[in-house]
Amino acid sequence: MRIKVEIDERSGFCYGVIRAVKTAEDNLGGKSKKNPLYSLGDIVHNSSELNRLSEKGLHIIDMEEMKNMHGTTVLIRAHGEPPQTYELAKRNNIRIIDCTCPVVLQLQKKIAKTDGQVVIFGKLGHAEVNGLVGSSGGRAIVIENMNSEGLERIDFKKDINIFSQTTKDPGEYQQVCGIINGKMEEGAKLIVHDTICRQVASRHAQLSQFAKQHDVIVFVSGQESSNGKVLYELCKKNNSRSYKIESLQQIKKEWFKDGDTIGICGATSTPKWQLTSCARFLKITLNNYICSTLFKFIYGNYRRF
Ligand code: SF4
Repeated sequence: MRIKVEIDERSGFCYGVIRAVKTAEDNLGGKSKKNPLYSLGDIVHNSSELNRLSEKGLHIIDMEEMKNMHGTTVLIRAHGEPPQTYELAKRNNIRIIDCTCPVVLQLQKKIAKTDGQVVIFGKLGHAEVNGLVGSSGGRAIVIENMNSEGLERIDFKKDINIFSQTTKDPGEYQQVCGIINGKMEEGAKLIVHDTICRQVASRHAQLSQFAKQHDVIVFVSGQESSNGKVLYELCKKNNSRSYKIESLQQIKKEWFKDGDTIGICGATSTPKWQLTSCARFLKITLNNYICSTLFKFIYGNYRRF
């Protein structure tokens, strides 16, 4: 089989994730280090990258574990945290390495200063959204879509300030704002805040083009990545032969035909090295009969290569 493979130049970690991962690496000294580094939640929604950092000594903890810690060092990831987390760290004498993305931090501050009704368009339970709700003092109403339970709590007779989670689809946000605006009662206004991250928003048009320009799209992303879900759906909309994978083992031969051009792309939480290894893997296994046969032999499964 002869194929061409191209990696989307704009795919790979966003600024906030690069900063958080680099800070973690700068503060890691290997598993044997006396003072280990803990990350509150997955530093990035990508299991391969998490394994790589775990090999270097990063420990992922949850809030329950943090409650029982004293005198340790905890890294706050790019998603940010609500004020209660900082209060807990102070009480338990925990040193915080704060990697909250400056874009998220700015949004938290904006929400904290906003009086009246606050609505957040985002994923319920998502770390960034929890941090935003915390910044509002718990007042903010979260809506995921127009069927969300949160809608019943909105008072359309009063002004509403609406903000979006930084990684949402700009088109979807616009649609939701349009529907809410249609429900506003006389005298009340909807104030829409443009809070989608520029790095995410600007990728939509470019990624749509990239998906159209290739016969097949292989989208590499962790299952938990909210941005990954949004960007994969965008690829699928523009190219029906789009496939999402988390690891190379999920790739299937039947996705490809002789002469195909294959575009490889990913979420803001997908490391560049994973896209490069995916491209190398496809070039070797699809272009080279011997390697392909060897791969079949190793995996003993003809559904894969
Ligand atoms: S997507 Fe944007 S806001 Fe979110 S962490 Fe990355 S750079 Fe920051």
